Amino acid sequence: MGRLRIKRIGVMGGTFDPIHNGHLVTAEEAWKQFQLDQVLFVPSGSPPHKEDRKSLDAEDRYLMTVIATATNPHFRVSRLEIVRPGPSYTIDTVRELHRIYGKNTEVFFITGADAILEILTWKEPEAVLREATFIAATRPGYDLKRLEESLPEAEKERHASDPRVLVMEIPALAISSTDIRQRVKQGRPITYLVPEGVSEFIEKNGFYR
Ligand code: ATP
Ligand code: MG
Repeated sequence: MGRLRIKRIGVMGGTFDPIHNGHLVTAEEAWKQFQLDQVLFVPSGSPPHKEDRKSLDAEDRYLMTVIATATNPHFRVSRLEIVRPGPSYTIDTVRELHRIYGKNTEVFFITGADAILEILTWKEPEAVLREATFIAATRPGYDLKRLEESLPEAEKERHASDPRVLVMEIPALAISSTDIRQRVKQGRPITYLVPEGVSEFIEKNGFYR
């Protein structure tokens, strides 16, 4: 009693173009399995690795994320990356979250198996692993065993005693934003792949046609 408990904040970063039930199931599972206090969804600003396709305006991706998470009491959405000029690196976002939430907070970065492989080959992987714990969710089509090989050397040595990358088994959902965009373009249904409010918002605004 009286002792300050460390707050456990989950961070779910993504383009969310659009947000779908795969993202939501992943976040909810992480919240439950790792006793997180809250999951913060962080839509990206201008994504540095997706120049092949122009993503929807950040404000619209943000709005869809708010609509999708609004009814969940432990989900929040942050504008942190969309108001920051230029591409956002994970290390900058983690550092900013530590500044915002203060000392008594542990940051858990929730990602799919594909994204974690990318992040760890990104800017300052050692520093990222020092400042955040990763929760890597299984995702159809991506091999989590490859993750072990791509970890930085220092992390491999520490791995067994103090794991910074935790693997999370989730019910496999072969849902992707890419597939949803294609479906809308082809006039095929996205019902049950995204929350109802999100599909209505896409329809109303004529996105992805
Ligand atoms: P795109 O097809 O445009 O790349 P996406 O479906 O991969 O979209 P992102 O916004 O790129 O969605 O992903 C955000 C985060 O959610 C990433 O960490 C990604 O690995 C994870 N993720 C996305 N879909 C799933 C899924 N079906 N199961 C588990 N994790 C997922
Ligand atoms: Mg992706």
